[in-house]
Parts: sequence; structure tokens; C-alpha cells
Amino acid sequence: MSLEQNYQNILSQLPQNVKLVAVSKTNPANKIKEVYDLGQRAFGENKVQELLEKQPVLPNDIEWHLIGHLQTNKVKYIAGFIAMIESIDSEKLLKEVDKEAAKNNRKINVLLQVKIAKEDTKFGLTVDEAKAIFNQYLSGNFPNVEIKGLMGMASFVDDETQIREEFSVLKNLFDELSQLKPLETLSMGMSGDFPIAIESGSNSVRVGSAIFGERNYF
Ligand SMILES: *Cc1c(COP(=O)(O)O)cnc(C)c1O
Repeated sequence: MSLEQNYQNILSQLPQNVKLVAVSKTNPANKIKEVYDLGQRAFGENKVQELLEKQPVLPNDIEWHLIGHLQTNKVKYIAGFIAMIESIDSEKLLKEVDKEAAKNNRKINVLLQVKIAKEDTKFGLTVDEAKAIFNQYLSGNFPNVEIKGLMGMASFVDDETQIREEFSVLKNLFDELSQLKPLETLSMGMSGDFPIAIESGSNSVRVGSAIFGERNYF
């Protein structure tokens, strides 16, 4: 299938309330531009270096999402333009984003990344850490960030029951925190599991290979 067919195929599976972040990591700028020309505006990248190569050569109204582990010393390179950092996985990182946002006279939208996969290879906060950070935020810490919601990745397994269980942990936390302050974004679901994620309450999916084709590496 062509890029356009892939893209329309994914769009056709998303309910109106579900946002698509097209994960463009490892794909060159010209391919991103093709998807941009089909109307897509939100793109996700997982490496700062790669993002910094693509951002200047692509249209200014692209909404860039950082979706991979972010080292604190690299926040400064993206703080001026990033639309959303989905991968806040430590308090230290959130502090740094807050500091760099202030330097750039802007607020930076972020999601707290929560580790829901049973596999222990992934970055992310525990549920308790996420709650603690959110409570600090509610009491006035991190004034230059806007915590918009939560992001999580399920295990790469075939067992649908397990995937649903993992997504439901994040959905429950989302509902619990939303009682304290309404949250907008529940980012879960990738090429392999986005239909399950949507059934589990996701309203923002991060889809890469199902649009751009298989990658050789992450
Ligand atoms: C690569 C990646 C995706 C997209 O994965 P696909 O399986 O290609 O859709 C989504 N989220 C994160 C955090 C990623 O690193």
C-alpha cells in the first residue's frame, strides 16, 4: 500500500475524538512532507538529534511531539518549539522542562509517561510516582509546564487480555487524576495495538510503521 493508502486507512479507523500523532522517527523529511501534504500536522519523534535535523527543513506549523526518553541535558535544544513532550519519566526531567520553558517565555505541554508494561525494559513513572508529581503540580510546582495527561505503552505481546489490563491501569489513573484537575490527553496505542487502546479509553494514538512502513530499527 502507498503512504497515502496507509494514512487514510489509519484515519478511517479513528473515532472523531481520537487524535493521531504520526510517528515519523527514522523516516526522512520528504516522507514526512508527503504525509503533511495529506493534512497531517502532529508528528512524533523519539530522538532529539533526529528531530533537530528535520524540524528546520519542514513546515513551521507542524506540531512536534517528543515521544522517546529525553535526557535532561537535551531539553534546551527543543524547548523553544516542541508542542508536546509525551515522555516525562522523572521528576528531574520535569524540573528541567519547567526551567527551559521559563527561559523561552512559554509554557510547555507535557504528558507523564507511566510504566504499565510488565516487561521491565521501558522507561516510565510508577503509578505512585505519577500521582506524587501530579500533586506537586497541583500545589503550584512546575508553573511553566502544563500537564495535559498521561502516556503509556503496553507490552509487545500477543495476549490481548494482558494488553487490555495494562491499558486499563493507565485509564484508571487518568480518571483518578482527572477528578483533581481535568486532563485532556490519554496517549496510548501504537500500530499493533491502537484499536485495543481506543476501546480502553485512549484519545491520542501514536502510529508509526502502519503509516510509514516497517522500520529497521527503533
Ligand atoms: C516508535 C514508537 C511508536 C510507534 O510505533 P509503531 O509500532 O511504529 O506504530 C509509538 N510510541 C512510541 C513511544 C514509540 O517509540
